[in-house]
Amino acid sequence: MALNKSMHPRNRYKDKPPDFTYLASKYPDFQQHVHTSLTGRPVVNFKEPEAVRALTCTLLKEDFGLTIEIPLERLIPTVPLRLNYIHWVEDLIDGQKQPRRGIDIGTGASCIYPLLGATMNGWYFLATEVDDICFNYATKNVEQNNLSDLIKVVKVPQKTLLMDALKEETEIVYDFCMCNPPFFANQLEAKGVNSRNSRRPPPSSVNTGGVTEIMAEGGELEFVKRIIHDSLQLKKRLRWYSCMLGKKCSLAPLKEELRKQGVPKVAHTEFCQGRTMRWALAWSFCDDVIVPSPPNKKRKLEKMRKPLSFTLTEAGLKELQAKASAIGCAAHSPVDSVTALLEKNLTDLRVLHKRVPCRKQEQSLFLTAVENTWIHGRQKRREQKRQLRELPRAPHCAKTSSETAVASTAPATTSASTQTSNSSEDSSENKAASAPELAGQQQTDSGASSSEKSKHNIPGEQKEVVEHVPDEDVDMDSGSVEHFLFKCLLNVMPEESDVVIEMHWVEGHNKDLMNQLCTYLKNTLLKSVTKS
Ligand code: SAH
Repeated sequence: MALNKSMHPRNRYKDKPPDFTYLASKYPDFQQHVHTSLTGRPVVNFKEPEAVRALTCTLLKEDFGLTIEIPLERLIPTVPLRLNYIHWVEDLIDGQKQPRRGIDIGTGASCIYPLLGATMNGWYFLATEVDDICFNYATKNVEQNNLSDLIKVVKVPQKTLLMDALKEETEIVYDFCMCNPPFFANQLEAKGVNSRNSRRPPPSSVNTGGVTEIMAEGGELEFVKRIIHDSLQLKKRLRWYSCMLGKKCSLAPLKEELRKQGVPKVAHTEFCQGRTMRWALAWSFCDDVIVPSPPNKKRKLEKMRKPLSFTLTEAGLKELQAKASAIGCAAHSPVDSVTALLEKNLTDLRVLHKRVPCRKQEQSLFLTAVENTWIHGRQKRREQKRQLRELPRAPHCAKTSSETAVASTAPATTSASTQTSNSSEDSSENKAASAPELAGQQQTDSGASSSEKSKHNIPGEQKEVVEHVPDEDVDMDSGSVEHFLFKCLLNVMPEESDVVIEMHWVEGHNKDLMNQLCTYLKNTLLKSVTKS
């Protein structure tokens, strides 16, 4: 489930996809759509609208106690993807389990967002709809779940978005609005003709949306721009405005529009289910709202926090201790010997290092790497070639004030590269209940995602030698270094009779550089053990 990694952490299906066998045994309506694959797995054919609908209705019943009816000729929502958006709205408004007020623009026949939001969190909803069939079904779905006290479905004219819906309710301040807009500008786009990647396989499921559901003049871009313009008039009447996007390429122009209009708070995120990606954008005019971090920054932060480590086992330590005393180290403990060897290696590599205070029986070195001396020969040339191809220009480190405790031993800088976004995610092509969207329900994984792939395509450092490389006989204290590749903290710790070396990222261009240095140090230490 490569892509399901970026399902919202609170999404109940994140690590627990629906159990088709169990659901089939409990719900006869669903059972008729479950088949056994050649490998003996229970599968659902997502090309059949009836099957998609049966699964959605079954999940809503089983997991939320909701009974809904949806016509086959209207958009059939998929539950896991809709939940991601609900959870993100919770993050925006800090609104779990609190009475909050929201608007769902274009609620669809299912009325899925209000039904989920009201059931899960007790939220009040104003749900708008232009389409008669959708409006009638939505109203019925609310009534038959006894949620009329919380959800009001209103019919609005096509040309209006928020303004008209709020005309009568001048007093109420809403906490948010959400919207799953009609994604396509025209029939061709709906069929995927304009899809960004023409080599993508056709969607493996039906597009069940009706005309107003999946098409809007100008596509989702224009639709969301209209919401932005309404928000410029309504301002703080709503604390957050938000929209789901079916195409990644809509994100940048919409953010640009918000920037042009001087909207002070903007957030975005991405949702995925199986092969389907969706994006969401939110904006606010309120000063006191908290803007959640974008997803790739979050993932990056998690990655940054995890140290790299390797272990030197008891067997090798004796030889390392002998080696350390041969270079004049009088230490008795394996930790001190390993530290002395590491210091020698670091000096040879011209990586600046200094000991910093740490726990008893451990050693801690603060490292500042200013040039890449650990990649050699062929690898280096390969790296350089690749960089010329991919990263013709490296960003410069901008000097800032010191932020971290460890970094205070040296002037700190922040790296531009930590701000850059991972644009490897694929765009998705289809909106209406597409099978990719359902893959999260289906327990299938359509192979390595692009983000997964990028993990193996380790980017090299962006610049091998940074300006102002220190002289050969450099002072190993990094205090005076202004430009560097990265800084990290290296801890040498006893663990029973072994020694563990951990490298904690502090800051710099690219954590893969620390990864390379870690591998180099590990190999050098282990090599010296096997050689002797
Ligand atoms: N929210 C549902 C349906 C999304 S499809 C879901 O996520 O499954 C988009 C819906 O917006 C359609 O039902 C369409 O009829 C409705 N719609 C289109 N233009 C609209 C407008 N101007 N105001 C309100 N609803 C609109």
